[in-house]
Amino acid sequence: MLKRRDFLKFAAGSVLLGVLPKEAEANSDIYLQNDEMACFDKIYSKLKSIQRVVGYGNFNIISFDEALKIAKRYKSIGAFRKDEIALMEKIFYMDATKLGFYGARTVDNITYNINKKEALKIKGTGHWLFKGKPKEDYERILKDVGHSLKLTSGIRSVIKQTYLYYGKVKKLKGNLSKASFSIAPPAYSYHTIRDFDVGRVDWGYSNFTARFALTKEFHRLRHLDYISMRYGLHNRYGVRFEPWHIKVLV
Ligand SMILES: [Zn+2]
Repeated sequence: MLKRRDFLKFAAGSVLLGVLPKEAEANSDIYLQNDEMACFDKIYSKLKSIQRVVGYGNFNIISFDEALKIAKRYKSIGAFRKDEIALMEKIFYMDATKLGFYGARTVDNITYNINKKEALKIKGTGHWLFKGKPKEDYERILKDVGHSLKLTSGIRSVIKQTYLYYGKVKKLKGNLSKASFSIAPPAYSYHTIRDFDVGRVDWGYSNFTARFALTKEFHRLRHLDYISMRYGLHNRYGVRFEPWHIKVLV
C-alpha cells in the first residue's frame, strides 16, 4: 500500500494543484511503423465492431480465437487478414521492457482462454471476477468500505486488453512506449489473471484519475490488510500511479 508519508506528499503537491505525475519523455520511444498504421486502425475498428456484436460484458472475456470467428461470421466486420493477425501477434509477443514497462508477462499465449466456469459476472457492473480469492476480496471490500464503491473493471481477456491498449496507442499517434505508461500491453495485464479495479459509484472516468486517491473510499481501502495496490507511486513497473487498481494477494 501507499505509505502515508508518500500519500500526503502526493496529495499536497500534485493532486490539489491538478497536476498529474509526469512521465518521462524519451527520445527512444517506440512507435508503430508508418506502414503499420492503416493495418492497426483496421484491427481496432474490427475489435470495436466485435464488442458491439457480442456486448460490452461478453467482450471482457472473449478469447482471440472467438474474436476471429465472430469477425469471419459477420459480413459487416469481415475476417481478420493475415497482416492484421501478424501485427496483433507482433505487439502481443513484443518484449515490453523495450517499451519501458517492467511488469511481469502474465499471459504466454495470444490464444489464452478465460475459463468461463471460473468467471462470475458481477451484477450491475458489466464486469467479471474470478471465483475464489478475487470475488471474496471484492465482497469483503464492499462490506468494509461500503456500497459507494463498485467494480469498474474486472477480468480482461487478451482481446479486451488489446482493445484498451490499442485505444491508448491510437490516441498517442502510435507511441507504444507512452501507451504502456498508462495501460499494460496485451500480454502483461494482471486483470487477465486476477486483479481488478474499483471506483466510486457514479464517478465515471474520474475513478481512473489520481483524484481517486483523495476519496474517503481510497482512504478506507488503504487500511485493508488483505489487499494491496499493484501500481503505487513511483512503482518499479514503469506504470503511472493507479490507486484504483487492487492487487489480489496470492
Ligand atoms: Zn487496473
